[in-house]
Amino acid sequence: MEYQYKTREVTPNPNKAFAIGDGRISGYASIFLGALSLAAVLAYLFPSYLTTTELRAAYDARALQDVLKYGMYFSLFFGAVTFLINKRKRMGAVGIALTGASFALGGYMIPVGPVEPKPLSLGIDWLILAFLGSTVIFTSLEKLFPKYKEQVILRDEWGLDFFYFCFNHLLISAVILVGNYVVSHFHFAANAEVQAAVQGLPLMAQLVLLIICADFVLYWEHRLFHEVPRLWPFHAVHHSVETMDWLAGSRSHVVQTFIERSLAMIPLYLLGPDKAALDLYVTFAALQAIVIHCNLGIPFGPLKYLLVTPQYHHWHHSSEQPAIDTNYSAHTPLFDRLFGTYHMPTEHWPAEYGTTKRLPRTFFGQFFYPFRKDV
Ligand SMILES: [Zn+2]
Ligand SMILES: [Zn+2]
Repeated sequence: MEYQYKTREVTPNPNKAFAIGDGRISGYASIFLGALSLAAVLAYLFPSYLTTTELRAAYDARALQDVLKYGMYFSLFFGAVTFLINKRKRMGAVGIALTGASFALGGYMIPVGPVEPKPLSLGIDWLILAFLGSTVIFTSLEKLFPKYKEQVILRDEWGLDFFYFCFNHLLISAVILVGNYVVSHFHFAANAEVQAAVQGLPLMAQLVLLIICADFVLYWEHRLFHEVPRLWPFHAVHHSVETMDWLAGSRSHVVQTFIERSLAMIPLYLLGPDKAALDLYVTFAALQAIVIHCNLGIPFGPLKYLLVTPQYHHWHHSSEQPAIDTNYSAHTPLFDRLFGTYHMPTEHWPAEYGTTKRLPRTFFGQFFYPFRKDV
């Protein structure tokens, strides 16, 4: 019998929706900007330990002090707004206190000098830049073109996913370190002639080649995490999200994060493309990984046959029977089509997300879940 697709019901939740004048927009803005400012000030004070060597090469720390300045003043401004409208003053006070602490530690005036690189550090810079960029881009997109208009920004478990977002971004230098270590075992397979041929290709051809080769590796990595019983509990953490949005994709067990990132680096290393092509691929992959989890109803038209889209990956997260163990591809539907795991009823979206067996709902509960004897 053919599967009867249902429509997802999202009940409006006025208590959690942001409304102008109730103090929550300014309260949260003040707290988030205050906390980010304090984190940034600590990063300026201890850059060797709290910033990422690879990332420092890509930004201008002095110019970013202007961004920090605006962040601090806006945190104070939004904090003051909560007092003016006389609502959520406690949130405003916390935001102002955080920014006050940032000013006390030197604020945006901390001298910037050469930084001694450390092999391991916490990626506070990566966390702040990614969080600011993602919030602005993806929250705007989700508000402009939502799939589920009634879905609120601060939906159930947003705090858990925000924690994952912070945790996984802070670990960036460890992820790069482990990735480089894994890749170093593949020197034997690197071939100078192949790499020269790749570099001889036009930039866009290099990009397409990187996308396809990385997707092949990611497809099989992902499929093994689903189909090998010892591996599934690690990946089940990613599938435990029951509301999809840009933050939901951050939920990933740290063991899987390390394995996935390291494996993805192998084809990139073996192909040896130009730096410009590699940068393009990394940017594309990072943005697509967020977009496909978004609450985004943009019709992608013919692009949906070429790229993994939100609808495509939402089906991967569905707990409905015909969608289970399908749509493993990360970049293009190619390998799902080739290996028989393609599921894309273009007229429908999932009604349910999550795992068939429910996981613990805390970070530590999920961290230890794969090591439990009863799993
Ligand atoms: Zn999966
Ligand atoms: Zn996902």
